[in-house]
Amino acid sequence: MKILVPVKRVIDYNVKPRVKADGSGVDLANVKMSMNPFDEIAVEEALKIKEAGGAEEVVVVSIGPAKAAETLRTGMAMGADRAIHVTTDNEVEPLAVAKILKAVVEAETPGLVILGKQAIDDDSNQTGQMLAALLGRPQGTFASKVVVEGDSLAVTREVDGGLETVKLAMPAIITTDLRLNEPRYASLPNIMKAKKKPLDAKTPADYGVDIAPRLKTLKVAEPPVRSAGIKVEDVDALVAKLKEMGVA
Ligand code: AMP
Repeated sequence: MKILVPVKRVIDYNVKPRVKADGSGVDLANVKMSMNPFDEIAVEEALKIKEAGGAEEVVVVSIGPAKAAETLRTGMAMGADRAIHVTTDNEVEPLAVAKILKAVVEAETPGLVILGKQAIDDDSNQTGQMLAALLGRPQGTFASKVVVEGDSLAVTREVDGGLETVKLAMPAIITTDLRLNEPRYASLPNIMKAKKKPLDAKTPADYGVDIAPRLKTLKVAEPPVRSAGIKVEDVDALVAKLKEMGVA
């Protein structure tokens, strides 16, 4: 079995995003970019399944600008076998990403696609679900545990108030949650080896996908600054305040 892992290059999670002065978006000039953290978890899970004998090949795919190739090299330094880079300088919305991934899945026929539950730049949480719908395949989203059982998978999902385990017939789609695993770091020798692994360059047009945006961003703004709290004398005053605010 082959596992496909879509990985997105996003603003590093340690960087505090700066909004552009004209409110048209986030300023990405000279900002550290990294693999989306949930996608690192997806790569790790694919590698674990391969190491346990459940898959023969792990392929990483990214849709994005020339520099997304660095993110793919990171995936290969972690252990993925090869990469597909669908190059575009335009912002690609989740629906267009899902359509391109559908075409990649049709060309590559993986038994499993593991995506992150969301990209930390757009926080859409849509691509995995849309891909499963476009392909008509079962999906296990927000996975905190994945067990391969022959031709099917047991996926434990983080849902409100607990955990739910679902059984999926493969081929299937999984999206990762934070507690699924601890992604490995790439070692220096593996970073060197990754430079020689195959990276296939494609374009959205190769897959016949129209990536024209369907959404228009009206405005991007900093979150409001939190206003200072108040101090109350005792518990009675606290309860009275909470009642006043309608929360008790
Ligand atoms: P989103 O729906 O945008 O929150 O993204 C969810 C997941 O879809 C990400 O964690 C990635 O696994 C995948 N994904 C989204 N955008 C891209 C992209 N441009 N290239 C590769 N994978 C992507």
